Amino acid sequence: MSVLEGKVVVITGASAGIGAAIARDLAPLGVKLVLNARRTGQLDALAAELGSEVEIVSGDIAEAAVGQTLLDSTLARFGRADVLINNAGIFRNGPVDDVDLDALETMIALNFTAAVRNAYLFAREMKRAGSGHIVNISSISANLTTPGCGVYSGTKRALEGFSECLRIELADTGVRVGVISPGTTATEVFNHIPADKRPSAAAPIQRLEAEDIAAGVRYLLEQPPRVNVPHLRIYSSEQRH
Ligand code: NDP
Repeated sequence: MSVLEGKVVVITGASAGIGAAIARDLAPLGVKLVLNARRTGQLDALAAELGSEVEIVSGDIAEAAVGQTLLDSTLARFGRADVLINNAGIFRNGPVDDVDLDALETMIALNFTAAVRNAYLFAREMKRAGSGHIVNISSISANLTTPGCGVYSGTKRALEGFSECLRIELADTGVRVGVISPGTTATEVFNHIPADKRPSAAAPIQRLEAEDIAAGVRYLLEQPPRVNVPHLRIYSSEQRH
């Protein structure tokens, strides 16, 4: 029996990529899932595939009201929130002369502001309950940036700084905070960018699979309560810098 059996796990950005892989990885362990993303049809299909107890909260998680609804719906359906995985994120890049400034602001609102808001909302509830685990999905780009990717890197570096502070602040409350920083992973995240404009275009490497990141998340969650893994970086074995 898994230590995660019966736990209530909330995942943002669960309709595709890493978020969906985390849901698929955890469902067989007997967890109860709360899944958020904007594409309701994708979430419904995933819930049907998983066949476990699933609550769907569709909507743009960058809207503050959706974050509150995510918490409220979790408590209404399952009575508690054991794990929050702040996974929803987008990638926008571009050169100085024609980078889309509005797109950058949308990315900051999702990758950083929404994750912070959710973390606080759920941390308050978890603190009241005396246990919980928040996992924020960052990126190796927090440290390994490339031209045109400065704001994406900035959102992830800010998320890592915030996470470390929250971990310290909650250290004696039973609420653990950790970060996973994936390397380049085969998902939809770069689909909107022409292949020659992607960050990996100059030095292509074998990409990770979303399942590799899900395994990292499970590693954090399966640690006994006395253990907190604050940061896990997952590189492709071909990654240099
Ligand atoms: P995908 O594009 O494959 O999936 C992103 C998920 O986020 C989708 O489920 C999407 O669903 C959801 N999403 C996007 N915008 C919103 C929004 N406003 N509100 C709610 N959900 C939203 O990307 P990945 O799986 O690759 O990305 C997951 C995380 O991993 C991100 O934080 C990303 O920065 C990070 N990461 C990814 C890497 C990679 O190489 N793939 C490397 C390092 C980090 P929908 O469109 O239905 O809303």
